Amino acid sequence: MSCIFCRIVAGEIPAEIVARGDGYVAFLDVTPLADGHVLVVPVAHVATIEDLTPAHADTLFQAVRRLAGPTRAAVGAAGSTIGINNGAATGQTIPHVHVHIVPRWEHDGAGSVHTIFRAGPRRPVAAVGNAIRAQLGS
Ligand code: AMP
Ligand code: ZN
Repeated sequence: MSCIFCRIVAGEIPAEIVARGDGYVAFLDVTPLADGHVLVVPVAHVATIEDLTPAHADTLFQAVRRLAGPTRAAVGAAGSTIGINNGAATGQTIPHVHVHIVPRWEHDGAGSVHTIFRAGPRRPVAAVGNAIRAQLGS
């Protein structure tokens, strides 16, 4: 087993595990962006959100919902940025889905998710809406 997150799930390598449930494990990021930076992973090894089964997606996001408050409270944070690098092109370094929960404070120097994008939209919003609806078959 070469996936580092599968190895953490299996208990083969150490991690600061904060919660474990049927289908997910949550542990502290080894290189935290802030105190209380938690990663929540599905037990199933899949690379992207699109690869999750509906049941595994439910389990993962229920876990994120349950962990967000206690994680924030544990470090006295004012909020949290919750995000997923979904695919290698986005900066995902480990191809096993993981949700970052990063506690945040007023004036902590980090921006909103909007700050990671420089280029604005290039296509008319309505045209993109049509394209997505067509993909969805709706
Ligand atoms: P991403 O760039 O979204 O793929 O994020 C991967 C995250 O995994 C990074 O924030 C790393 O610090 C974290 N990470 C890598 N190896 C470990 C590990 N052994 N235990 C905990 N976190 C890890
Ligand atoms: Zn894995």
